[in-house]
Amino acid sequence: MTIVSLRAIMDPAFDERYGVAAINIVDDLSLDAVLEAAVELDSPVIIQTSLKTVKAIGAVVLEKMFRARADEVAVPVAMHLDHCPDREWISICLAAGWSSVLFDGSHLDVAENTVQTAEVVAEARGYGADVEGEIETVLGVEDGIGSDVAAEVHPVEVSAQFISSTGVYCFAPAIGTAHGLYKGAPDLKPERVTELVELHPIPMVLHGGTGLSEAQFTDLIARGCAKVNISTALKIAFVDSHREYLEANPSKHDPPSMLGHVRSAVKQVALHHIGMFGSAGRAHAPTATTG
Ligand SMILES: [Zn+2]
Repeated sequence: MTIVSLRAIMDPAFDERYGVAAINIVDDLSLDAVLEAAVELDSPVIIQTSLKTVKAIGAVVLEKMFRARADEVAVPVAMHLDHCPDREWISICLAAGWSSVLFDGSHLDVAENTVQTAEVVAEARGYGADVEGEIETVLGVEDGIGSDVAAEVHPVEVSAQFISSTGVYCFAPAIGTAHGLYKGAPDLKPERVTELVELHPIPMVLHGGTGLSEAQFTDLIARGCAKVNISTALKIAFVDSHREYLEANPSKHDPPSMLGHVRSAVKQVALHHIGMFGSAGRAHAPTATTG
């Protein structure tokens, strides 16, 4: 039994300044491949689901699938709901057993976002679950959520006020990253992470990680980004590995071989990122407790 709360994984990561990969899975195969990578590296891992994936598979089935698989592995695992602007789905996932949720109220003005996020924090507390908050939309549409228009970036004091008023466990600051693939080099604002952690020392969450360099990851993690989201890289590996297999084997109709090829490609993405973030060998961090 290694399903734990988000904070059981992220408290030690934030204290010791390593990053934990939060990887968006899309089905049972990608879930298995990510867990296998975490076990191989003896690393904690956060399994994330987009709202689109939850709607496609169903919250109850998805949670049962996660629980069945995570129960079998010997590393701490938490399940997190990624960007969710819909309060009804937040409630469905909390009731189904998610460890944590990102209530994405970035489309609201900060005052209304603060009120609603505080309500979500109170609701999550009833389930022993944690909440991630954000006030600025991350550039780029991901699984139907987000915007291709750069959002207004508020002074860090506004974010710090939001954090203390809502009681969120972790926060996704606007630091110049974007969802999807970067068209040019991103103009990062890493100092905003440092400033926010100084004002309010809670774990920060890095969105739009796919495509950043190892040096950029290392720097942001050292500043306090303890949760590092990876979504686009997995989707690319998942889809391209299907394509590669089909192009290389046009006349074969052998699902286990094709799925084995896909699983191995997805696992490589997880191994690569977990290995870069410094969480390998940390599965048994002293403060990690079973939740
Ligand atoms: Zn994101």
